[in-house]
Amino acid sequence: MRITVVGAGPAGTLLACYLARRGFRVEVYERRADPRLLDEDESRSINLGLSARGIAALTDIGLMDTLWPLTVPMRGRAIHLPGGAVPFQPYGAHEGEILHSVLRRDLITTLVDHAEAQPGVTFHFRHRLVGLDRETATARVVHEETGAASTVEGDAVIGADGAFSQVRAHMHHGLRAEHHQEILEWGYKELTIPAAGDGSARTRLEALHVWPGEDALIVAHPNRDNSLTGTLFLPVERFGEIADPEEFLGERFPDTLDLMPHLAKEYAEHPVGHLVSIRTSPWHHRDRVALIGDACHAVYPFYGQGMNSALEDCTVLDRCVGDHPGDLGAAFAEYQRLRKPHTDVLDELSKQNFVELRDRLRSPLHLLRKKADLLLARALPGRWVPLYTMISHTTVPYADALARARRQDTLLRGAGAAVAVAGLLAAAPAVARLVRLSRFARRARLAQRNTRKGEPPC
Ligand code: FAD
Repeated sequence: MRITVVGAGPAGTLLACYLARRGFRVEVYERRADPRLLDEDESRSINLGLSARGIAALTDIGLMDTLWPLTVPMRGRAIHLPGGAVPFQPYGAHEGEILHSVLRRDLITTLVDHAEAQPGVTFHFRHRLVGLDRETATARVVHEETGAASTVEGDAVIGADGAFSQVRAHMHHGLRAEHHQEILEWGYKELTIPAAGDGSARTRLEALHVWPGEDALIVAHPNRDNSLTGTLFLPVERFGEIADPEEFLGERFPDTLDLMPHLAKEYAEHPVGHLVSIRTSPWHHRDRVALIGDACHAVYPFYGQGMNSALEDCTVLDRCVGDHPGDLGAAFAEYQRLRKPHTDVLDELSKQNFVELRDRLRSPLHLLRKKADLLLARALPGRWVPLYTMISHTTVPYADALARARRQDTLLRGAGAAVAVAGLLAAAPAVARLVRLSRFARRARLAQRNTRKGEPPC
């Protein structure tokens, strides 16, 4: 069988590896140029936090040994507070519960190399999908430079073409499909923290750095060359209003001025990116078309799970294909049934984490709660697992993780209430004695006053 994959991002390239392993012929069409042929400037790359789900998928396909040397560990969050303190919040209670920063370009080129080395996989870069017949799985593609159009036939088309998927648009066109899209009122711009003149890192390298704030937020991932790539998040309209970015950031996050020597230039030159969240259904049309990754569930990036969940999708789809040999329709239906409830929950969690990063990180109460969570996780290994740990350091399905975290919260609240009640009960005799004493004292004062006035004491 021949499968056409549209999009060579994390999902499309990993899926090509999986499909090749099952013996499919795979043709991948990607509108961008081959990332292996671009020099560093041309392929300016964002870095992404790789965590347990992505690692499990990449291990499954045999690629993590190649990728480890291309990653930088992030052992926790370094939170930059306005007074200059930078408390460090570990990512997990146990060693190994950490994230790994990887350049998107490094990840994709490794995946493309691996996929291309499999028999039956061909990449067609610079080809954009412009049309699709969902009944026959026939795609229409156009070469980005020459404009030459061609028709691609296959047994099925899989849309791994990101949040604004054209495959999705053609697949849903004219059908009773659901599509819920939100564009966050905040956008983002990339800013660099370069290595210092002597090549060392200007700040702690093995951490995700966060500058939390109500009207601006910066997050920075480390790179292997000791630089960090920062992402400044602001309400979209603010980007245009800020005349002096150094003054703006200097007022809010004073240490960024030393860390970002090219701030003004990069602020002026780098484009504003937009953040989109998508929930949609169906994810497939019969046995002919299916969606994967951001194409069917784009989330805001604040939980660092968009790519990880896209990679996990590939593992789930691969298993479904394996469980339904020769029946792609059944495999696609099973894949949506198994996966969508969980990616819907991830969408909610990613929205909540925006509020956490922006508003709550500075709160001492929140930091205390995080510490308590880690202490409980250490004291009760395997029995108390914080939500963040389940999402980032395990492959527990997202909705199951949330349900368990809610049960733990209920227990914690119950335990808190029990401690409070027990405290009251223990204190009850002392309180009663106090009440009796204060009544006695009041009566004594009254008697004294009446005696001074020459009246009977009572
Ligand atoms: P994409 O990466 O969007 O890839 C789609 C591919 O399809 C692209 O190569 C595109 O060129 C191609 N394409 C599009 N249209 C067509 C067409 N018509 N024809 C042919 N090709 C086409 N996720 C994490 O897990 N961890 C993080 O730390 C993290 N940080 C992020 C930070 C930011 C600022 C943003 C915006 C996102 C972040 N994400 C993160 C999310 C992550 O980038 C995405 O979830 C992930 O890239 C989705 O992979 P994908 O392959 O589904 O789609």
